[in-house]
Amino acid sequence: MGMSIRAYARHRGVSDTAVHKAIRTGRIQPEADGTIDPERADREWQQNTQPIKVGTAWKGTGNDEDWPALASSTPSGPSLLQARTINETIKAQTNKVRLARMKGELVDRNQAIAQVFRLARIEGLHPRAIELGLREIGFSDHNPLPRGLAANVRMREDELDYYVSRVLDLQFQYRGKIDVLLGLEMDYLEGLEAYLETQLTKYPWDYVIGSIHYLDPECRVGSWPRAFDGATADLYARYFDLMRKLARSGLCDIIAHFDVPKRAGHRTEQANDDLPAILEEIKRADVCVEINTAGYRHPELPAPEPYPGLAIVEQLLALGVPLTVNSDAHAPDQVGLESGAIESFLRRKGCTRLAKFEHRKRSLYEL
Ligand SMILES: [Zn+2]
Repeated sequence: MGMSIRAYARHRGVSDTAVHKAIRTGRIQPEADGTIDPERADREWQQNTQPIKVGTAWKGTGNDEDWPALASSTPSGPSLLQARTINETIKAQTNKVRLARMKGELVDRNQAIAQVFRLARIEGLHPRAIELGLREIGFSDHNPLPRGLAANVRMREDELDYYVSRVLDLQFQYRGKIDVLLGLEMDYLEGLEAYLETQLTKYPWDYVIGSIHYLDPECRVGSWPRAFDGATADLYARYFDLMRKLARSGLCDIIAHFDVPKRAGHRTEQANDDLPAILEEIKRADVCVEINTAGYRHPELPAPEPYPGLAIVEQLLALGVPLTVNSDAHAPDQVGLESGAIESFLRRKGCTRLAKFEHRKRSLYEL
Protein backbone atom coordinates (compact mmCIF):
# COMPACT_ATOMS: atom_id res chain seq x y z
CA MET A 1 0.00 0.00 0.00
CA GLY A 2 1.51 3.31 -1.12
CA MET A 3 0.62 6.98 -0.71
CA SER A 4 -2.60 8.64 -1.78
CA ILE A 5 -2.47 10.73 -4.94
CA ARG A 6 -2.81 13.89 -2.89
CA ALA A 7 0.07 12.88 -0.61
CA TYR A 8 2.24 11.99 -3.58
CA ALA A 9 1.45 15.34 -5.25
CA ARG A 10 2.62 17.09 -2.07
CA HIS A 11 5.71 14.89 -1.96
CA ARG A 12 6.64 15.89 -5.53
CA GLY A 13 5.56 19.50 -5.13
CA VAL A 14 3.05 19.31 -8.01
CA SER A 15 -0.73 19.59 -8.24
CA ASP A 16 -3.09 16.62 -7.84
CA THR A 17 -4.08 17.15 -11.46
CA ALA A 18 -0.48 16.72 -12.61
CA VAL A 19 -0.33 13.36 -10.86
CA HIS A 20 -3.65 12.25 -12.34
CA LYS A 21 -2.34 13.26 -15.74
CA ALA A 22 0.94 11.42 -15.18
CA ILE A 23 -1.05 8.26 -14.46
CA ARG A 24 -3.39 8.75 -17.37
CA THR A 25 -0.56 9.27 -19.84
CA GLY A 26 1.43 6.35 -18.46
CA ARG A 27 4.23 8.51 -17.10
CA ILE A 28 3.87 6.77 -13.74
CA GLN A 29 2.05 3.61 -12.82
CA PRO A 30 -0.03 3.30 -9.66
CA GLU A 31 -0.08 0.18 -7.50
CA ALA A 32 -2.86 -2.33 -8.01
CA ASP A 33 -4.93 -0.63 -5.28
CA GLY A 34 -4.60 2.78 -6.94
CA THR A 35 -2.09 4.19 -4.45
CA ILE A 36 1.37 5.41 -5.34
CA ASP A 37 4.68 3.88 -4.36
CA PRO A 38 6.68 7.13 -4.12
CA GLU A 39 10.07 5.56 -4.80
CA ARG A 40 8.96 3.75 -7.90
CA ALA A 41 6.85 6.68 -9.12
CA ASP A 42 9.73 9.12 -8.66
CA ARG A 43 11.91 6.81 -10.72
CA GLU A 44 9.31 6.48 -13.48
CA TRP A 45 8.57 10.20 -13.44
CA GLN A 46 12.26 10.87 -13.95
CA GLN A 47 12.72 8.26 -16.66
CA ASN A 48 9.65 9.23 -18.59
CA THR A 49 10.34 12.93 -18.57
CA GLN A 50 13.20 12.63 -21.05
CA PRO A 51 11.98 14.52 -24.10
CA ILE A 52 11.53 12.34 -27.14
CA LYS A 53 13.32 13.85 -30.09
CA VAL A 54 10.72 14.17 -32.79
CA GLY A 55 13.55 14.72 -35.25
CA THR A 56 14.82 11.17 -34.90
CA ALA A 57 11.45 9.73 -35.64
CA TRP A 58 11.29 11.55 -38.95
CA LYS A 59 14.06 9.44 -40.34
CA GLY A 60 11.79 6.43 -40.25
CA THR A 61 12.77 3.59 -42.50
CA GLY A 62 13.90 5.76 -45.35
CA ASN A 63 11.11 4.28 -47.41
CA ASP A 64 9.37 7.28 -48.88
CA GLU A 65 6.02 5.62 -49.39
CA ASP A 66 6.08 4.39 -45.81
CA TRP A 67 4.98 7.81 -44.59
CA PRO A 68 1.48 9.12 -44.29
CA ALA A 69 0.56 11.40 -47.10
CA LEU A 70 -1.07 14.68 -46.44
CA ALA A 71 -3.08 17.17 -48.41
CA SER A 72 -2.88 20.87 -47.76
CA SER A 73 -5.20 23.64 -48.62
CA THR A 74 -5.72 27.37 -48.39
CA PRO A 75 -3.72 29.79 -46.23
CA SER A 76 -5.00 31.93 -43.37
CA GLY A 77 -3.38 33.56 -40.30
CA PRO A 78 -0.59 31.72 -38.46
CA SER A 79 -1.09 30.33 -35.00
CA LEU A 80 0.88 28.75 -32.16
CA LEU A 81 3.26 25.87 -32.50
CA GLN A 82 2.39 23.47 -29.72
CA ALA A 83 5.62 21.55 -29.46
CA ARG A 84 5.21 20.73 -25.79
CA THR A 85 1.93 18.96 -26.29
CA ILE A 86 3.44 17.06 -29.16
CA ASN A 87 6.36 15.77 -27.14
CA GLU A 88 4.05 14.86 -24.29
CA THR A 89 1.66 12.95 -26.48
CA ILE A 90 4.39 11.06 -28.22
CA LYS A 91 5.91 10.25 -24.90
CA ALA A 92 2.59 9.04 -23.56
CA GLN A 93 2.30 6.72 -26.52
CA THR A 94 5.85 5.44 -26.06
CA ASN A 95 5.12 4.78 -22.43
CA LYS A 96 1.96 2.93 -23.23
CA VAL A 97 3.95 0.60 -25.41
CA ARG A 98 6.64 0.20 -22.79
CA LEU A 99 4.15 -0.43 -20.01
CA ALA A 100 2.34 -3.00 -22.05
CA ARG A 101 5.62 -4.82 -22.45
CA MET A 102 6.33 -4.57 -18.71
CA LYS A 103 2.93 -6.01 -17.96
CA GLY A 104 3.88 -9.01 -20.04
CA GLU A 105 1.43 -8.28 -22.83
CA LEU A 106 2.44 -9.48 -26.21
CA VAL A 107 3.70 -6.47 -28.10
CA ASP A 108 4.91 -6.73 -31.62
CA ARG A 109 7.96 -4.52 -31.53
CA ASN A 110 7.78 -3.49 -35.15
CA GLN A 111 4.17 -2.58 -34.76
CA ALA A 112 4.90 -0.60 -31.62
CA ILE A 113 7.70 1.32 -33.31
CA ALA A 114 5.58 1.90 -36.38
CA GLN A 115 2.82 3.35 -34.24
CA VAL A 116 5.15 5.70 -32.41
CA PHE A 117 6.67 6.84 -35.71
CA ARG A 118 3.26 7.30 -37.17
CA LEU A 119 2.15 9.38 -34.24
CA ALA A 120 5.31 11.44 -34.38
CA ARG A 121 4.65 12.15 -37.99
CA ILE A 122 1.04 13.07 -37.48
CA GLU A 123 1.89 15.33 -34.57
CA GLY A 124 4.84 16.92 -36.31
CA LEU A 125 3.28 17.52 -39.68
CA HIS A 126 0.41 19.45 -38.53
CA PRO A 127 2.00 22.19 -36.37
CA ARG A 128 4.08 22.84 -39.46
CA ALA A 129 0.86 23.53 -41.34
CA ILE A 130 -0.24 26.00 -38.67
CA GLU A 131 3.14 27.66 -38.91
CA LEU A 132 2.64 28.01 -42.67
CA GLY A 133 -0.75 29.56 -42.09
CA LEU A 134 -2.80 26.85 -43.76
CA ARG A 135 -6.49 26.90 -42.98
CA GLU A 136 -6.90 23.18 -43.16
CA ILE A 137 -4.79 20.08 -43.34
CA GLY A 138 -5.70 16.53 -44.24
CA PHE A 139 -4.10 13.25 -43.28
CA SER A 140 -4.24 10.38 -45.72
CA ASP A 141 -2.15 7.42 -44.68
CA HIS A 142 -2.09 4.38 -46.96
CA ASN A 143 -5.03 2.05 -46.42
CA PRO A 144 -4.65 -1.50 -45.10
CA LEU A 145 -5.02 -4.31 -47.61
CA PRO A 146 -5.97 -7.91 -46.90
CA ARG A 147 -3.56 -10.85 -46.61
CA GLY A 148 -0.65 -8.53 -45.84
CA LEU A 149 -0.51 -7.27 -49.43
CA ALA A 150 2.14 -4.57 -49.90
CA ALA A 151 2.35 -4.43 -46.12
CA ASN A 152 5.66 -2.56 -46.09
CA VAL A 153 4.10 0.71 -47.19
CA ARG A 154 0.80 0.86 -45.35
CA MET A 155 -1.13 0.60 -42.13
CA ARG A 156 -2.10 -2.82 -40.92
CA GLU A 157 -5.76 -3.64 -40.59
CA ASP A 158 -5.48 -3.51 -36.81
CA GLU A 159 -3.91 -0.04 -36.93
CA LEU A 160 -6.75 1.63 -38.77
CA ASP A 161 -8.88 2.31 -35.67
CA TYR A 162 -5.89 3.90 -34.03
CA TYR A 163 -5.13 6.10 -37.02
CA VAL A 164 -8.70 7.31 -37.31
CA SER A 165 -9.08 8.04 -33.61
CA ARG A 166 -5.76 9.88 -33.56
CA VAL A 167 -6.72 12.17 -36.43
CA LEU A 168 -10.16 12.76 -34.90
CA ASP A 169 -8.47 13.67 -31.60
CA LEU A 170 -6.39 16.23 -33.46
CA GLN A 171 -9.48 17.55 -35.16
CA PHE A 172 -10.99 18.24 -31.76
CA GLN A 173 -7.79 19.46 -30.14
CA TYR A 174 -7.01 22.01 -32.87
CA ARG A 175 -10.50 23.24 -33.63
CA GLY A 176 -10.46 26.98 -34.17
CA LYS A 177 -6.76 26.90 -35.11
CA ILE A 178 -6.72 24.67 -38.14
CA ASP A 179 -9.26 22.28 -39.62
CA VAL A 180 -7.94 18.74 -39.52
CA LEU A 181 -9.41 16.43 -42.13
CA LEU A 182 -9.60 12.67 -42.01
CA GLY A 183 -8.46 11.24 -45.31
CA LEU A 184 -7.21 7.98 -46.70
CA GLU A 185 -5.06 7.08 -49.66
CA MET A 186 -6.77 3.99 -50.97
CA ASP A 187 -4.93 1.61 -53.25
CA TYR A 188 -7.30 0.43 -55.93
CA LEU A 189 -6.89 -3.27 -56.71
CA GLU A 190 -9.15 -4.93 -59.21
CA GLY A 191 -11.47 -7.45 -57.57
CA LEU A 192 -11.07 -5.90 -54.14
CA GLU A 193 -13.90 -3.39 -54.49
CA ALA A 194 -16.12 -4.98 -51.82
CA TYR A 195 -13.27 -5.06 -49.31
CA LEU A 196 -12.46 -1.41 -50.00
CA GLU A 197 -16.10 -0.40 -49.79
CA THR A 198 -16.34 -1.91 -46.30
CA GLN A 199 -13.24 -0.02 -45.23
CA LEU A 200 -14.68 3.22 -46.55
CA THR A 201 -18.11 2.92 -44.99
CA LYS A 202 -16.72 2.08 -41.56
CA TYR A 203 -15.18 5.50 -40.82
CA PRO A 204 -16.17 9.17 -41.21
CA TRP A 205 -13.67 10.03 -43.95
CA ASP A 206 -13.57 13.59 -45.23
CA TYR A 207 -12.01 12.44 -48.47
CA VAL A 208 -10.55 9.37 -50.12
CA ILE A 209 -7.67 9.60 -52.56
CA GLY A 210 -7.66 6.70 -54.97
CA SER A 211 -4.27 5.58 -56.17
CA ILE A 212 -2.82 2.94 -58.41
CA HIS A 213 0.56 1.70 -57.35
CA TYR A 214 0.11 -1.92 -58.43
CA LEU A 215 -0.82 -3.30 -61.79
CA ASP A 216 -1.86 -6.74 -60.59
CA PRO A 217 -4.17 -7.68 -57.72
CA GLU A 218 -1.39 -9.42 -55.81
CA CYS A 219 0.76 -6.26 -55.76
CA ARG A 220 3.63 -7.99 -57.51
CA VAL A 221 4.05 -5.51 -60.32
CA GLY A 222 3.85 -1.83 -59.63
CA SER A 223 3.62 1.36 -61.62
CA TRP A 224 5.96 2.54 -58.88
CA PRO A 225 8.14 1.70 -56.99
CA ARG A 226 8.33 -1.81 -58.43
CA ALA A 227 9.33 -1.22 -62.00
CA PHE A 228 7.23 -2.54 -64.81
CA ASP A 229 9.29 -4.77 -67.01
CA GLY A 230 7.88 -3.94 -70.41
CA ALA A 231 7.06 -1.26 -72.94
CA THR A 232 5.82 2.09 -71.69
CA ALA A 233 2.75 1.90 -73.92
CA ASP A 234 1.81 -1.49 -72.38
CA LEU A 235 2.29 -0.12 -68.89
CA TYR A 236 0.03 2.84 -69.55
CA ALA A 237 -2.57 0.67 -71.25
CA ARG A 238 -2.86 -1.39 -68.05
CA TYR A 239 -2.47 1.62 -65.73
CA PHE A 240 -5.14 3.67 -67.48
CA ASP A 241 -7.45 0.67 -67.64
CA LEU A 242 -7.24 0.43 -63.85
CA MET A 243 -7.66 4.18 -63.51
CA ARG A 244 -10.78 4.07 -65.64
CA LYS A 245 -12.18 1.38 -63.32
CA LEU A 246 -11.17 3.35 -60.26
CA ALA A 247 -12.84 6.52 -61.57
CA ARG A 248 -16.03 4.63 -62.45
CA SER A 249 -16.08 2.69 -59.17
CA GLY A 250 -17.18 5.74 -57.18
CA LEU A 251 -14.86 4.58 -54.41
CA CYS A 252 -12.66 7.67 -54.34
CA ASP A 253 -13.11 11.45 -54.36
CA ILE A 254 -9.70 12.31 -55.75
CA ILE A 255 -7.41 10.61 -58.27
CA ALA A 256 -3.87 10.41 -56.89
CA HIS A 257 -0.65 11.25 -58.74
CA PHE A 258 -2.14 10.74 -62.18
CA ASP A 259 1.09 10.03 -64.09
CA VAL A 260 3.16 8.42 -61.34
CA PRO A 261 4.72 5.83 -63.71
CA LYS A 262 6.96 8.66 -64.88
CA ARG A 263 8.73 8.24 -61.55
CA ALA A 264 9.99 4.90 -62.87
CA GLY A 265 11.03 6.48 -66.17
CA HIS A 266 7.80 5.84 -68.09
CA ARG A 267 7.02 9.25 -69.53
CA THR A 268 3.38 9.95 -70.13
CA GLU A 269 4.23 11.52 -73.49
CA GLN A 270 5.14 8.00 -74.69
CA ALA A 271 1.83 6.67 -73.47
CA ASN A 272 0.04 5.84 -76.73
CA ASP A 273 -3.23 7.50 -77.59
CA ASP A 274 -5.11 6.63 -74.41
CA LEU A 275 -4.50 9.91 -72.65
CA PRO A 276 -7.40 12.03 -74.04
CA ALA A 277 -9.82 9.13 -73.53
CA ILE A 278 -8.87 8.60 -69.92
CA LEU A 279 -9.13 12.31 -69.18
CA GLU A 280 -12.62 12.34 -70.69
CA GLU A 281 -13.51 9.32 -68.58
CA ILE A 282 -12.41 11.11 -65.41
CA LYS A 283 -14.50 14.11 -66.39
CA ARG A 284 -17.54 11.88 -66.95
CA ALA A 285 -17.03 10.17 -63.61
CA ASP A 286 -17.07 13.61 -61.95
CA VAL A 287 -14.05 12.84 -59.83
CA CYS A 288 -11.44 15.38 -58.71
CA VAL A 289 -7.76 15.12 -59.70
CA GLU A 290 -4.98 16.21 -57.39
CA ILE A 291 -2.01 18.24 -58.50
CA ASN A 292 0.54 16.44 -56.40
CA THR A 293 3.65 18.50 -55.77
CA ALA A 294 5.74 15.57 -54.48
CA GLY A 295 7.28 15.49 -57.96
CA TYR A 296 9.24 18.61 -57.03
CA ARG A 297 11.16 16.59 -54.47
CA HIS A 298 11.54 13.33 -56.39
CA PRO A 299 15.06 13.19 -57.79
CA GLU A 300 14.05 10.39 -60.19
CA LEU A 301 12.26 12.89 -62.41
CA PRO A 302 14.43 14.50 -65.10
CA ALA A 303 12.97 17.90 -64.23
CA PRO A 304 10.93 19.02 -61.21
CA GLU A 305 7.23 18.92 -62.00
CA PRO A 306 4.02 17.84 -60.30
CA TYR A 307 1.92 14.72 -60.91
CA PRO A 308 0.35 15.16 -63.38
CA GLY A 309 2.71 17.37 -65.39
CA LEU A 310 1.51 20.87 -66.22
CA ALA A 311 0.59 19.98 -69.82
CA ILE A 312 -1.93 17.44 -68.49
CA VAL A 313 -3.13 19.92 -65.85
CA GLU A 314 -3.99 22.28 -68.71
CA GLN A 315 -5.98 19.57 -70.46
CA LEU A 316 -7.86 18.84 -67.23
CA LEU A 317 -8.63 22.54 -66.86
CA ALA A 318 -9.91 22.69 -70.42
CA LEU A 319 -12.25 19.79 -69.64
CA GLY A 320 -13.42 21.45 -66.41
CA VAL A 321 -12.25 18.62 -64.15
CA PRO A 322 -12.16 19.81 -60.50
CA LEU A 323 -8.62 20.02 -59.15
CA THR A 324 -6.98 20.15 -55.76
CA VAL A 325 -3.38 20.84 -54.77
CA ASN A 326 -1.71 18.27 -52.53
CA SER A 327 1.85 18.35 -51.26
CA ASP A 328 1.71 14.60 -50.42
CA ALA A 329 4.05 15.52 -47.56
CA HIS A 330 5.81 12.68 -45.80
CA ALA A 331 7.68 15.03 -43.44
CA PRO A 332 6.98 18.51 -42.01
CA ASP A 333 9.30 20.44 -44.30
CA GLN A 334 7.38 19.11 -47.29
CA VAL A 335 4.02 20.55 -46.24
CA GLY A 336 2.78 23.03 -48.82
CA LEU A 337 5.74 22.38 -51.12
CA GLU A 338 5.48 24.56 -54.27
CA SER A 339 1.77 25.07 -53.70
CA GLY A 340 2.19 28.82 -54.21
CA ALA A 341 3.82 28.27 -57.60
CA ILE A 342 1.06 25.88 -58.66
CA GLU A 343 -1.62 28.32 -57.58
CA SER A 344 0.02 31.13 -59.60
CA PHE A 345 0.18 28.81 -62.59
CA LEU A 346 -3.50 27.96 -62.20
CA ARG A 347 -4.49 31.62 -61.90
CA ARG A 348 -2.52 32.45 -65.05
CA LYS A 349 -4.49 29.72 -66.81
CA GLY A 350 -7.76 31.24 -65.69
CA CYS A 351 -8.52 28.73 -62.95
CA THR A 352 -10.08 30.54 -60.01
CA ARG A 353 -11.52 27.73 -57.91
CA LEU A 354 -10.16 24.54 -56.37
CA ALA A 355 -11.93 21.64 -54.73
CA LYS A 356 -12.08 20.93 -51.02
CA PHE A 357 -13.79 18.12 -49.14
CA GLU A 358 -15.69 17.54 -45.95
CA HIS A 359 -17.46 14.30 -45.08
CA ARG A 360 -16.84 13.25 -48.67
CA LYS A 361 -18.76 16.21 -50.05
CA ARG A 362 -16.92 18.31 -52.58
CA SER A 363 -17.16 22.07 -52.66
CA LEU A 364 -15.14 24.75 -54.43
CA TYR A 365 -13.25 27.61 -52.83
CA GLU A 366 -11.85 30.76 -54.45
CA LEU A 367 -8.16 30.65 -55.12
ZN1 LIG B 1 0.61 7.22 -53.59
